Amino acid sequence: MRRTLGAALILALLATPAAAAASTPTLRGSHRSMIRQNAIARANDFTFVRSPAQVREWVQKGRLLPLPGNDAYRVDGASFPYARPEIRTFVERLSSQYLSGCGEPLVVTSATRPLDRQPRNASELSVHPAGMAVDLRVSGRHDCRAWLENALLALEGKGVLDVTRERRPPHYHVAVFPQAYAKHVAALLADSARKALQARAAAVSLASPPPAARRAAAHPVESSGGEPAWVDALALILTGAIAIGLARRSQRRSG
Ligand SMILES: [Zn+2]
Repeated sequence: MRRTLGAALILALLATPAAAAASTPTLRGSHRSMIRQNAIARANDFTFVRSPAQVREWVQKGRLLPLPGNDAYRVDGASFPYARPEIRTFVERLSSQYLSGCGEPLVVTSATRPLDRQPRNASELSVHPAGMAVDLRVSGRHDCRAWLENALLALEGKGVLDVTRERRPPHYHVAVFPQAYAKHVAALLADSARKALQARAAAVSLASPPPAARRAAAHPVESSGGEPAWVDALALILTGAIAIGLARRSQRRSG
């Protein structure tokens, strides 16, 4: 699909942090949010795959990547466990944090869905055929639901995705905005790298102090009072007491 000026303009208007800040994050979906998801998919030139054969073609071309599952997430019930690269990164990062946060793996129940395999009640604006959305299982544990909802709403507040808690069947529908999410992750990684470098520089500085500090360490200035002198005095007293004790024992033995 060709990127049109109109689509690019819509993307510029809808996918900016300012647009995200304008609306309070919520788990309630809306027609407006579906329009936004759809517009972002089209502005990214994402093809809405029509059939399982086209899914296979897009996988071969590397436009859709497999979601194989790992210790932190598993795929259950998804006929086409594939997604755009940024969405796979999202699943991997979120599931790792989810596992740490609440102790159970994340469950992906749907990912890419070709147009001819969409459920009857799917919106015609759905971005599942674009490989841009995943459905996540609603945990039976209150703390895990709270963790996941807070995390997803925080990301929605940053303008990098749109989450809806669906009732029929119960699940979280998450449309991830590829460009905004990739920028968000790049900024986080850059921040982590900067902090790691700072920590390393501080460790190196401690291991080899500057010349002035080395000179001070080589020729320590005697304290004119305080703890070192007090410790010396105590050591002298103890040494004296031990010497007296030893002398008395010696006298008793010899006496
Ligand atoms: Zn969905």
